[in-house]
Amino acid sequence: MRWEGRRESSNIEDRRGSGGGNFGGGKGTGVLGIIILLVGAYYGVDLSGLVGTPDFSGQSSQQLETQEEQQLASLSKVVLADTETVWGQYFRQMGKTYSEPTMVLYNGVTPTACGTGQSAMGPFYCPSDRKVYLDLSFYNEMKNKLGAAGDSAFAYVIAHEVGHHVQNMLGILPQVNRAQQSSDRKTANQLSVQLELQADCFAGVWASQAVKSGLFERGDEEKAFNAAEAVGDDRLQKRSQGYVVPDSFTHGTSAQRLEWFRKGLQSANPSVCNTFNQ
Ligand SMILES: [Zn+2]
Repeated sequence: MRWEGRRESSNIEDRRGSGGGNFGGGKGTGVLGIIILLVGAYYGVDLSGLVGTPDFSGQSSQQLETQEEQQLASLSKVVLADTETVWGQYFRQMGKTYSEPTMVLYNGVTPTACGTGQSAMGPFYCPSDRKVYLDLSFYNEMKNKLGAAGDSAFAYVIAHEVGHHVQNMLGILPQVNRAQQSSDRKTANQLSVQLELQADCFAGVWASQAVKSGLFERGDEEKAFNAAEAVGDDRLQKRSQGYVVPDSFTHGTSAQRLEWFRKGLQSANPSVCNTFNQ
């Protein structure tokens, strides 16, 4: 990606080094494990396939920012700024006003309006406070554990979370969350998959503009495609438990995630992202 020197978003809340207020320290991971599952079930908008492989190493809040972290923080701010520009334009075209989300950078554990956020959950969006929560260590998690390396792979993840914010601003997220509350587990999971695939499609719509503006360079699309496939439920389940339970899918298969991300990218049109009407 050719991101260096581009505008960085100012909608940033940097909690790195704060240790997440009262939540710092290495005690009580068992309790945290339970909280993670509850929070994960409540959000429906994270990469929760990652829960179950919590990694509490390397999260010392007192570390100085390394050069790599500095780069990742800058990249994240540039990507967020670019989503602001792109979605601002789309909302204007729809006759609406886009209200920009805030991105919270944190280490390990942090309080959110949706409950306690934990980096083992992967990046997530909390609709109640309209914030995207990002622990930069996820970059290495993607690279080393999921086989999805590269800045455009990371950008896809950020654009996906912003996609949930777009859903929130369009009223889709609250509507679907209400429907989920009055449905059985299987139906609620299917609705979750539809939400996630739509966020992937919205990420693709953003990526189409990143290609146009030159933010994406040659080869970046492929790395983002690879990332979309890497976070498919079937692949994550196979990795963590060795088998696949389709009824428990909450994010869609690798093939579906790639398909909808591509759809958004090729059309550059958010109205093709109607995953609820297939
Ligand atoms: Zn999501």
